[in-house]
Amino acid sequence: MQLRYDEDFIETAVFCRAHSPPPSGPPAGASPTNSCRPPALQIARFHREREKCYDLRDPDARHAAFFQVHLDWFREWRLEQPLTEVVEEFVLVRGRLTTLAVRKATGRHDEGAELYVNETGERTGLLALRPERLLHRVTVRDFLRHEFMHLHDMLDPAFGYAPALDLPGLNAAQKRLARERYRLLWDITIDGRLAAAGHTPAATREQHMLAFDRGYSFWPEARRGETLDSLWRCPAPRHTDLLALIADPRGLQDAARPAPGGSCPLCEFPTFHWAVAATLAPAMLRRILAAFPAWQPEQGLCSRCLETYEASAALELAAAQ
Ligand SMILES: [Zn+2]
Ligand SMILES: [Zn+2]
Repeated sequence: MQLRYDEDFIETAVFCRAHSPPPSGPPAGASPTNSCRPPALQIARFHREREKCYDLRDPDARHAAFFQVHLDWFREWRLEQPLTEVVEEFVLVRGRLTTLAVRKATGRHDEGAELYVNETGERTGLLALRPERLLHRVTVRDFLRHEFMHLHDMLDPAFGYAPALDLPGLNAAQKRLARERYRLLWDITIDGRLAAAGHTPAATREQHMLAFDRGYSFWPEARRGETLDSLWRCPAPRHTDLLALIADPRGLQDAARPAPGGSCPLCEFPTFHWAVAATLAPAMLRRILAAFPAWQPEQGLCSRCLETYEASAALELAAAQ
């Protein structure tokens, strides 16, 4: 895996470091930071090297020279270290990404990791990060670990990630709510795994519980607690389990609503693999209702039952041709 930086990102990072407050002796018990200004001689050398770049007439050569100076100081001042060290912990991310590109985030809400796959199957991770985070060596590591876990899940076949949440039948507001819930549930599973591994999560279990209570206020308290626990403790969460939990964004009061480990209303076997009934074609819904007249789509069905119905529909179609 190749690590690449956006010019803007490393330039801002080295300037943050060069203009950080002068050293005043760390207060007792302070965590190690990169926030102290480097020695004055180094800063002078950095500025001299930058000045020299202006002498280059050719714009491309000048651009390349600036990039190199910024990259050299980015490394010299150990701003790269948290990135290279934390990514070392993520074997799957390093193995499956061709490139990890880091760009400058414009603000807190712009930060995060995304995955891009091109036509040839090449995978690129794009991490948007505020450069000033690198001045805080401990907290930036916690932040990076959380974001790399998102990438890890997206790259892990066992997680079964799908980039778009396929939620037909929902209006725009419901889709937005469903996406927010998906983020919330995913973050709970990520922070739970990080906490179990002895790291500092982005948000504590208690903070997640508050958000979860707000998002799922239509569930009884005991169910909220149990679901949060199972998400927080789950060592290998799956996209489809999260999807099952967000499948009813209107919060219909129905105890038979699909939940991981709940019983399928058709075959009555407990399942963690719920099919999203909202995505079923009308013909498929008619087919299920013919066999189970009391069934309601929001009760869901397990993916094994759905496969059976799909197979019999395919057989009938083939026989009719
Ligand atoms: Zn997150
Ligand atoms: Zn079933």
